[in-house]
Amino acid sequence: MIPIVAIVGRPNVGKSTLFNRLVGRRKAIVDDLPGVTRDRNYETVTRFGRPFILIDTGGFEPASEDRLLQQMREQSQLAMEEADVIIFLMDGRAGLTPSDVEVVEMLRRVDKPVFFVVNKVDGEKLEVESAEFYTLGVDNIATISAEHNRGVNDLMDEVVAALPEGKKGAAEEDVTRIAVVGRPNVGKSSLVNRLLGYERVVANPTPGTTRDAIDTYFTCNKKRYLLIDTAGIRRKGKTTQKLEKYSVVDSLRSIERSDVVLIVISAEDGVTEQDERIAGYAYEAGRACIFVVNKWDALTKDNSTIGKFVDQIRTEFKYLPFAPILFVSALTGQRINKVVEEVDKVMAQYAKRVSTADLNRVFSEAVTSHHPPLSQGKRVKFYYATQVGTRPPTFVAFTNRPEGIHFSYERYLLNKLREAFDFSGTPLRLIFRGRE
Ligand code: GDP
Ligand code: GDP
Repeated sequence: MIPIVAIVGRPNVGKSTLFNRLVGRRKAIVDDLPGVTRDRNYETVTRFGRPFILIDTGGFEPASEDRLLQQMREQSQLAMEEADVIIFLMDGRAGLTPSDVEVVEMLRRVDKPVFFVVNKVDGEKLEVESAEFYTLGVDNIATISAEHNRGVNDLMDEVVAALPEGKKGAAEEDVTRIAVVGRPNVGKSSLVNRLLGYERVVANPTPGTTRDAIDTYFTCNKKRYLLIDTAGIRRKGKTTQKLEKYSVVDSLRSIERSDVVLIVISAEDGVTEQDERIAGYAYEAGRACIFVVNKWDALTKDNSTIGKFVDQIRTEFKYLPFAPILFVSALTGQRINKVVEEVDKVMAQYAKRVSTADLNRVFSEAVTSHHPPLSQGKRVKFYYATQVGTRPPTFVAFTNRPEGIHFSYERYLLNKLREAFDFSGTPLRLIFRGRE
């Protein structure tokens, strides 16, 4: 299970500055893609080979003075329940505030590593002034400057060291790991029950306690599948607004561990912003995605209903043109059998390997029939291509000018690969490497 590190603190203490510093620049290919809606407050970060999800809790709500304390409590609560490590950020320039004191009190009682950090300590002089923070009575206070990258690396060394050891466990090659994600009430648990074919009773974890993911295996046509974190899917009993927040965290965790993501959308509600965020994350994680439009029974339909839905999904999720769309009802069971069928289809592509000879044949045909545009007046030449990985299929193409290949040409090449090898339903990665 991928660990979560949460940054908590009052508005303006520098949470997003620290977050951005740790996240660094996104891969260019992602920045190039129009229309990917994602929440900038979550990101997978890898440091010293340890991946974790970093959350800037400040993004959950707009801050307003009177709601400050309540907001802080909620933020901290969320962090205490969901995160494995908490960074509590304070402002060395503003000094210690009453809300800091209260939140520190809350966080001291948590049985998790908490780092108490004073930010905006840009130099030695401020270091001295931050002495008042020691009145908080916590053992260890780190001083950093997120903006000037002072003390941040030392802090992160300690944070990474405090991450729980992930249970490694060799990835089971013969299991298809399925994440079921979506907003609250779209029908995820109903769908999971249908897929499992019976009502499973899963105890509700007590609110406020850490929970472990409960994964459920099932077998269909002699193939094995794993439904990821069915406990998270079934967790109930929070207010809707809170559930929305939790559902993003749950979705992120599940997506990280999956091969295929079922993005569940309610036919009654249509596509919402939250759906777009979750899908954006699944896309960036490079997972195979299937749109499952649930509650199809609840619509009054005519000949154009499906077409309109398909149009809406294709428009809102331009970056996932390859993801199949299913219209189902978890309530009546309509077309539920298609779900596993479709999972098998995309999984076969997601894990597929093509031979280097075939790949190079297709590559050179594509380049011959449509030359890459000149790059700064120079010809772009390709030497050869090779598949370096699966899940998703990942290719490296050697070229004289890796930086000179335009996004639209990359898309052209990817489409050619899709057609030639029936990669119709999986994301692909194409990396250009330089070679003279
Ligand atoms: P958030 O509301 O907690 O996410 O805070 P922001 O990251 O938006 O930062 C609030 C303000 O503090 C911005 O103007 C930042 O430029 C500034 N800031 C953040 N980190 C530092 C720092 O290390 N030193 C100084 N002097 N200013 C900082
Ligand atoms: P979750 O929060 O995403 O896990 O959603 P649930 O599975 O708990 O479903 C939320 C509500 O939608 C429940 O009242 C379900 O009975 C209802 N529901 C789920 N699937 C369907 C469906 O296919 N059709 C209709 N009409 N209602 C559904």
